[in-house]
Amino acid sequence: MEKFVRATLIYGAGDVRVENVPDPVLKEPADAVVRVSRSCICGSDLWPYAARPHTEHGDRIGHEFLGVVEDVGSEVSGLTAGDVVVAPFVWSDGTCEFCREGLQTSCRHGGFWAADGVDGGQGEAVRVPQAQGTLVKLPVGEDSALLPSLLTLSDVFCTGHHAAVTAGVNPRTTVTVIGDGAVGLSAVLAAKRLGAEQIILMGRHQARTDLGREFGATDVVAERGEEGIAKVRELTGGDGTHTVLECVGLEPAIVTAFGVVRDGGVVSRVGAPQYVDVRMDFALFLRNVTLTGGVAPARAYIEELLPDVLDGKLEPGRVFDRTIGLDQVPDGYRAMAARESLKVLIRP
Ligand SMILES: [Zn+2]
Repeated sequence: MEKFVRATLIYGAGDVRVENVPDPVLKEPADAVVRVSRSCICGSDLWPYAARPHTEHGDRIGHEFLGVVEDVGSEVSGLTAGDVVVAPFVWSDGTCEFCREGLQTSCRHGGFWAADGVDGGQGEAVRVPQAQGTLVKLPVGEDSALLPSLLTLSDVFCTGHHAAVTAGVNPRTTVTVIGDGAVGLSAVLAAKRLGAEQIILMGRHQARTDLGREFGATDVVAERGEEGIAKVRELTGGDGTHTVLECVGLEPAIVTAFGVVRDGGVVSRVGAPQYVDVRMDFALFLRNVTLTGGVAPARAYIEELLPDVLDGKLEPGRVFDRTIGLDQVPDGYRAMAARESLKVLIRP
């Protein structure tokens, strides 16, 4: 008899449902099956939740999860049933040229969760392709109090770190972080970890910017547009900051980024861009501004960030301000879209 598990499916804008799906089993020798202990809703899940055309069949959704290995294929070594593991938001083989260069998001044999027949993370269980390259074993129990912070290694903390690393944040650079969502706050924490002394956080939700201050922001600028740019310049002797971490993905945010970056500085964008064009005109050319960033190869950073999370030095899991069961996932989406919740943790 076929067995089922519960999982989240998206049918279109505003229409997320929790339904029965087939209990995943191994299909390829490189697969593992993971029983999900914690998952969450991402700010980027809100883009399809806002705009996706309606379909008759639902599609799996969710790309952040950690859980317990239930079964492994014959080609998987180093993982056994019972291991607690975290999955980065892209799966990858860990062996191709791109993976060895630390760009697992471009893996020749990798892909995204909830696409092309691969399970999404917002459910009770997931078949993990390329399990050996993808999963990272965590030295904790399946009820560890550290699980929320460890779950951020799946995406947001690594994404914030990617912004800081690609921008070249170090003890000598000043930093502006644009956006007070979970990625923006993670970027503040990552910039602080890399030694930045001045970190200006641009955001206007006070509860979030207060957490940003606890994560290491030295200044908060609530103003937007020209006014916000003027404020950041005022805080930096008129020059702007050496690095700008753009964690929103909307056009006004990238325009602001170029407005607050110091001449010779670097803008890194990690907010999934919802715009097509970036205006890099002659005036910007004269200022020697660099644009970098992109999708974060979370898998490349997990081992590096893990010790600080395990010893409790960093608590990126504080971005979760609501915990729900799987059946409340539709309300979790609603709450995040309405900005009632910063980031929602799911306990399936
Ligand atoms: Zn690869």
